[in-house]
Amino acid sequence: MSQLFAAGRAAFGSRAITCLTASSTRRIPCRSASSSSSSERQQATPPPLPRAQPPLPRPPPPPTPFELLLEGKRFTCTECGKCCTGSGEIWANEAECAAIATHLRLPMLHFFRRYTKSYSRRPGWRMLKLQPGSDHCIFLEGGTKCSIYPVRPLQCSTYPWWPELMDPGEWAAEGRTVCEGIEHENALPVDVQDKAPVLRAATEYFAEQLAASNAGRLAKPRQGS
Ligand code: SF4
Ligand code: SF4
Repeated sequence: MSQLFAAGRAAFGSRAITCLTASSTRRIPCRSASSSSSSERQQATPPPLPRAQPPLPRPPPPPTPFELLLEGKRFTCTECGKCCTGSGEIWANEAECAAIATHLRLPMLHFFRRYTKSYSRRPGWRMLKLQPGSDHCIFLEGGTKCSIYPVRPLQCSTYPWWPELMDPGEWAAEGRTVCEGIEHENALPVDVQDKAPVLRAATEYFAEQLAASNAGRLAKPRQGS
């Protein structure tokens, strides 16, 4: 018995020493990470998260009232100059007069006398004169070019995107009688988002102009006044 016991102690003692040596100082079972089965690893791996769905594209916003008025219209400027002639009146407000006077390097009073005429009792609004003996705007050069183009009044720069011309009948009539660029055969459909701010600016401008007109007309517009 004592020999068996001694042999057993020797055997267990030998295994215990081997195990501690292999696992160094760790007091955990002597089992390496690589010893786990593949089924255990699969259980430990969390399932993949469901893939996020891409957001649905937003529907485009509905067209604004100005965009609706512009839809379907076609225009290209042929630079014929006809819109700078005729019986119409070109208005300029105080800021526009100041910009033109600065562009021409003229004192305001000099500019007023030479290029504009009084019209409204409302201060700040003037009209551009016509060339003597003609129905051409005083700034029209050679029948087709505007000599103050960078600072021309908003009434000019927004043409033909005027509120009064957005009615289909008025638009067509303007094309027949004044502006050959309206519905020109080479014209592309207007970019409504690009021109909507122009039409808005013209609408606000003409409302101011109408208020100036309604403020009362001076006795009679004179070329030299
Ligand atoms: S200011 Fe220029 S754009 Fe305006 S009507 Fe006169 S010439 Fe034409
Ligand atoms: S009448 Fe029309 S096409 Fe001719 S210059 Fe004026 S905007 Fe252009």
